[in-house]
Amino acid sequence: MKPADGSIDDVTPDELGAGPLTVGTPTHCPYCALQCAMTLHVSPAGSVTVEARDFPTNRGGLCQKGWTSAELLTAPDRLTSPLVRVSGELVATTWDDALGVIARAIRAVQVTHGRDAVGVLGGGGLTNEKAYALGKFARVALQSRSIDYNGRWCMSSAAAAGNRTLGVDRGIPFPLSDLATADVVLLVGANVAETMPPLVRHLVDMRAAGGTLIVADPRETATVRLADVHLPVTPGTDLALALGLLHLVVADGAVDEEYVAGRTNGFDAVRERVAGWWPERVERVTGVAAEDLRRVARLLASGGRVVVLTARGAEQHSKGTDTVTALIDLCLALGLPGRVGSGFGCITGQGNGQGGREHGQKNDQLPGYRKLDDPAARAHVAVVWGVPPESLPGPGPSAYEMLDALGTDGGVRVLLVHGTNPVVSAPNARHVVQRLEALDLLVVADPFLSETALLADVVLPVTQWAEEDGTTTNLEGRVIRRRAAVVAPDGVRSDLDIVNALAALLRDDLPVGAFPTEPEAVFDELARASAGGPADYAGITYDRLDRTGGLYWPCPDLDHPGTPRLFAETFGTPDGRARFVDVDHRPPAEDVDDDYPLLLTTGRVLAQYQSGTQTRRVRALNDAAPRPFVELARVVADDLGVVEGEDVRVVSRRGTSVAPARVSEAIRTDTVFMPFHWPGDARANSLTSDALDPISRMPEFKVCAVRLERVGA
Ligand code: SF4
Repeated sequence: MKPADGSIDDVTPDELGAGPLTVGTPTHCPYCALQCAMTLHVSPAGSVTVEARDFPTNRGGLCQKGWTSAELLTAPDRLTSPLVRVSGELVATTWDDALGVIARAIRAVQVTHGRDAVGVLGGGGLTNEKAYALGKFARVALQSRSIDYNGRWCMSSAAAAGNRTLGVDRGIPFPLSDLATADVVLLVGANVAETMPPLVRHLVDMRAAGGTLIVADPRETATVRLADVHLPVTPGTDLALALGLLHLVVADGAVDEEYVAGRTNGFDAVRERVAGWWPERVERVTGVAAEDLRRVARLLASGGRVVVLTARGAEQHSKGTDTVTALIDLCLALGLPGRVGSGFGCITGQGNGQGGREHGQKNDQLPGYRKLDDPAARAHVAVVWGVPPESLPGPGPSAYEMLDALGTDGGVRVLLVHGTNPVVSAPNARHVVQRLEALDLLVVADPFLSETALLADVVLPVTQWAEEDGTTTNLEGRVIRRRAAVVAPDGVRSDLDIVNALAALLRDDLPVGAFPTEPEAVFDELARASAGGPADYAGITYDRLDRTGGLYWPCPDLDHPGTPRLFAETFGTPDGRARFVDVDHRPPAEDVDDDYPLLLTTGRVLAQYQSGTQTRRVRALNDAAPRPFVELARVVADDLGVVEGEDVRVVSRRGTSVAPARVSEAIRTDTVFMPFHWPGDARANSLTSDALDPISRMPEFKVCAVRLERVGA
């Protein structure tokens, strides 16, 4: 399969002519949640070659990010020494000195401003072991409630919707391979052809067998070009789309009444709600033609195997939780969740976005997806941690709320950042930079001098991906092994070592071995801490993962085979029945007006990943996608007098960004698009809105009001 831009996209070793390679180290890709399987081969001279490995998710394919991932291991600007800021400059120092600076600042700030004045911001790319260790470090060593992670900006709306309707949050609660046997797949706000190209293999097989692919997206993306039906929805109106589809399902008598009566609660209020969302009204709100809505509703109600998946396009809104909820309501009315071959899921973005939100680095959670305010959960985890339950702090602020209050009275004053780069990835990023600059101490642990590390007072060089063992949990809830293939450079330490060392400097009253540094020991403790929780890893060990290739949670004991499919018999709610939740459409937090007449939406491109800290260091990826752009409709460009490639200034209420115009026939005339991987003057997140979803606290990355200006004008 070749990508639209002709670059290496999703290809197998045979297609590349790679031929058989010697036995290497089986592991998984360092980037997205598809966690494609690969084998790393290390030559005697130390160079590393990537070989794609067959696995049910990637089926022997990798995208260009995976193929080129080994280049990260020899990046010339790899950090190999801690840095501390002296007279305004970051200068190399020893680990003892750097850790001493951090420990002294933490002690001083906690004495003066309280324990919560020290915060931790983690990342969805960290292994399960690191996510668990950071959560425990915050609650046990710092005794601070101030911890959250960048998955708040990625999966929190999907998680909140799954929890309140299905009683559990496992992004895709069935094997991804089900896609290939579906009759109908509806993707809402998901551009998998660019973000996860090997996933497309399942969709291609589905279509080859006669299935139908429907994609709702404001842009005619690479994924839309593979689809049978495109719903060009106005940014911020997916919720109305879902209500309108359920209206038609009800009107057509296509509700699975037996399923609704036997397995769910609360449909009456939802049935009443959607009565007011007739197709012509939905067309006015969403821009999707009523006849297309009717066609899609008929396809969804066809009685075959139907899968509905969302991603960030539907979720990163101030009403993302309600939008995903409305789509789950639609699926429940059709009787899809729990039916073999059908179902609803959310496509997790970051490499360990799923596991990263299960084991305690989320502000309100304990390991095993337990709630921090649940007395029974606190008691269980406190026993594993060897501390009194009452010593565990309560839930803290969400990621953006923590950043928004940095350096203020009551806010965090020392922040430890692990595996994330908010200077590029946070919404309203100019404001976030100002808040980071107001800290007493900013500590960044990263393999590279990211844009956030450039602002730090202390930078700690850490191991990456192929230099360390660990586990991740992929987008289907399958726990898999990452393995060390090479030795980390001298001077580099693991985040686990850092947590261990800081805990020892800060506390002399903790149980012996409270913060193990061996990943397998951390995992075994994580498994015990998760026992009995929704995300139960108690029956998972490194040995079992090595023998099986991966196990789905929940896996409560060592004889348990894992749970590939959820909801076959029961849902995760107390009474085992799914809950319809009555939600209604509302406009985005910020709408267009005369000063800001266009909608900005943001997203990713094939050759870059998230804030670009990794992928902007890989030559082939930079050659493929060297700079950002502003995609705008031809009629908008003509009105402005802008031609292809000319710099355009995008202005929102929060800032400006300048990037070359990409004039397109593939975007709505009321919408412009920017990828968000780059820093500086072209940073898309200088523009984005920090309006938060009231339930998930997810920022509204996907829609804000902007105007365009010619830079020369
Ligand atoms: Fe697979 Fe994602 Fe890695 Fe590409 S970036 S190879 S899709 S895991």
